[in-house]
Amino acid sequence: MSLSQPPLRSQQLIKQARQHIPGGVNSPVRAFNGVGGTPRFIQRADGAYLYDVDGQAYVDYIGSWGPMLLGHNHPAIKAAVLAAVEQGLSYGAPTEVEVRMAETLARLVPSMEMSRMVNSGTEATMSAIRLARGYTGRDKFIKFEGCYHGHADALLVKAGSGALTLGQPNSPGVPADFAKHTLTCTYNDLASVAAAFAEFPDEIACIIVEPVAGNMNCIPPEPGFLEGLRALCDQHGALLILDEVMTGFRVALGGAQAHYGIKPDLTTLGKIIGGGMPVGAFGGRRDIMEQLAPIGPVYQAGTLSGNPVAMAAGLAMLEAIQAPGLYEALNAKTAQVAQGLKTAADKHGIPLTITQVGGMFGFFFSREAHISRFEQVTACDLAAFKRFYHLMLEAGIYLAPSAFEAGFLSLAHGEAEIAQTLAAADAAFAQLKA
Ligand code: PLP
Repeated sequence: MSLSQPPLRSQQLIKQARQHIPGGVNSPVRAFNGVGGTPRFIQRADGAYLYDVDGQAYVDYIGSWGPMLLGHNHPAIKAAVLAAVEQGLSYGAPTEVEVRMAETLARLVPSMEMSRMVNSGTEATMSAIRLARGYTGRDKFIKFEGCYHGHADALLVKAGSGALTLGQPNSPGVPADFAKHTLTCTYNDLASVAAAFAEFPDEIACIIVEPVAGNMNCIPPEPGFLEGLRALCDQHGALLILDEVMTGFRVALGGAQAHYGIKPDLTTLGKIIGGGMPVGAFGGRRDIMEQLAPIGPVYQAGTLSGNPVAMAAGLAMLEAIQAPGLYEALNAKTAQVAQGLKTAADKHGIPLTITQVGGMFGFFFSREAHISRFEQVTACDLAAFKRFYHLMLEAGIYLAPSAFEAGFLSLAHGEAEIAQTLAAADAAFAQLKA
């Protein structure tokens, strides 16, 4: 079916969906509010492609927001899931596969001496922060503007009016009393973090940070930033939590902590360790993790946590990504796309800045050659992004429908898909210029 045809079935479905699902979607970004137009309803996915209900194929640069590192419908993961399903769907009791998962995590990410499984990234970060608070006996914690760690109350908080004022809820329903313990600092600005510690010495339980920010487009840490956070935590008796829900097993086999050589006290992981099934995990230093129930006083639980089907999918994924040369290949493909976008934009005189770490990349409609701060991201040309987005979509390229999300490649993206993407970008930039 031609890509220029209007997505009739998607149009029908979004109308129908809005009758019984708020906004027609189960997670806001899917509604296309950031770009306008009709969200595509997806029927199936395979390799590098998504197929919508109107029969159109798209080269996918979202990868289920990260986890599809091996491409969709990978045979090893599918086989593991089908085999697990044969054994029953959920037992609510310990299983051998959970032990293998915890052992695998400890081997691949050595800072995760112990880990606990949860069902989403939100649960992972929420639980890790509770544990850090319980371990240190302190209430406050630091996060960064532009980073996203899920939708737990304490994390839906924006900075107060002055740099060092207490946090304010950025969603109705979050009590101000909860938000006041959340301090929001500036990503890639160690001075803002040092100032928070100076203002509240002995009150800050932890820092939580995306080691490569993937929720304000893709912003790598400046040299020294993560090291500086580590040092400030050590100096002030606070814990460092690296939120590797996006970066884990994507920027390197050992995650961003291996890539940058930073040892966190706790790590949070998400979707990727479920190979596409709903999963998250948090883990880290043994003495901290042993504070968790049932051996310690910090409560945390989950009926479906460590679900056997999800564990089977995740283990198959973690097994497959240990293949030699896999990350070199992912890195090279991602660089080819990111550099190709830049070359095409340059050709047509469109100001574009790109970033890339491993299998994550970002592109910014901006004249600034180096982007490292949230305010630079918000200053980008959103109108240009929206036009580019729809031109790419019409050409069969499915990018994240928001200027504030990173792009993700998979091993299934081959020369043909990359060539299609760059040809589409060339034509789109030409139109933007016209
Ligand atoms: N942390 C990071 C870095 C994320 O990118 C996300 C979601 O994209 C989360 C946490 C929340 O994960 P979930 O959507 O699985 O709750």
